[in-house]
Amino acid sequence: MDKVLLDYGSGGRASHRFVNDLFFRHLGNDILARMDDAAVVSLRGAVAVSTDSFVVDPIFFPGGDIGSLAVHGTVNDVAMMGARPLFLTCGFILEEGLPMDDLERVVASMGEAARRAGVRVVAGDTKVVPRGAADKIFINTTGVGQVLVDPAPSGHRAEVGDAVLVSGTMGDHGLAILSTRQGLSFDSPVRSDSAALGGLVEKLLAAVGDVHVLRDPTRGGLATTLNEIAGQSGVGIELTEQAIPVDPAVAGGCAVLGLDPLYLANEGKCICILPEAKAQAALAVLRADPLGAGAAVIGRVVAQHQGKVALVTPLGGKRLLGMLEGEQLPRIC
Ligand code: MG
Repeated sequence: MDKVLLDYGSGGRASHRFVNDLFFRHLGNDILARMDDAAVVSLRGAVAVSTDSFVVDPIFFPGGDIGSLAVHGTVNDVAMMGARPLFLTCGFILEEGLPMDDLERVVASMGEAARRAGVRVVAGDTKVVPRGAADKIFINTTGVGQVLVDPAPSGHRAEVGDAVLVSGTMGDHGLAILSTRQGLSFDSPVRSDSAALGGLVEKLLAAVGDVHVLRDPTRGGLATTLNEIAGQSGVGIELTEQAIPVDPAVAGGCAVLGLDPLYLANEGKCICILPEAKAQAALAVLRADPLGAGAAVIGRVVAQHQGKVALVTPLGGKRLLGMLEGEQLPRIC
């Protein structure tokens, strides 16, 4: 059994063996093991739910793979609501002929990422489609978490006078995927920042509090995500260009390829917007965690240019950072 066969998605004996052998071994827990039609879980109070589909190409890349990414991406969206991610569901669409070794590597990585993130996979589904009807493997995950604060952070809550922070360098994931896909190598290797942010967010909420907005700048990068927030909150956002952390290898790679790191995806970073008076405390909490070691205050929320994001250059000039038009890089996550 060295390749995925159409039979494995049939729901019959072959697919039972396949599921038991592979998925339960890496993702199993007492809830999943009940094998009923749906998982039953208990939660109290406000619950955050998010779903995302992962089609990244290539499925293995420096710093991660489609399995760990499918956990991190969804866990992070749940965490951005000020919630503790607890449960995941996962749906796999597999292309006939996918090497079993690749599938096992992906599922093992998913299991490891879920354990580290403190979430349990409580429901799942596997389908196999004929060769060519999908590309290797697509994964959908849905995450459920317990909201920890009231009011919860939201893109609608940025206020004039708030500080804007990021938890680290921008553009790492996007450039890692693009350079792997193109077979490019740079002087220093670029790795995806793919990581689960639930723990970091919880520390921030407990130690600092009053967090108005949390959001992970994934597709479209920092610039697009901040434009969304400016629009939702009806405020302007002003950034100090030289305060925005960008890894030198990412900056160098972007210069070669003509890309702007502020529009490239991150998968292990968050934007945090909170009252200016709390900015230094938040910065200290972020920097104390390895996942926030490169955190910085990058700007502020202003009353001018509502719904827009402006970048103040080192020479004092100002230019607007628009939203990303269309897809800069397809299949980045
Ligand atoms: Mg998000």
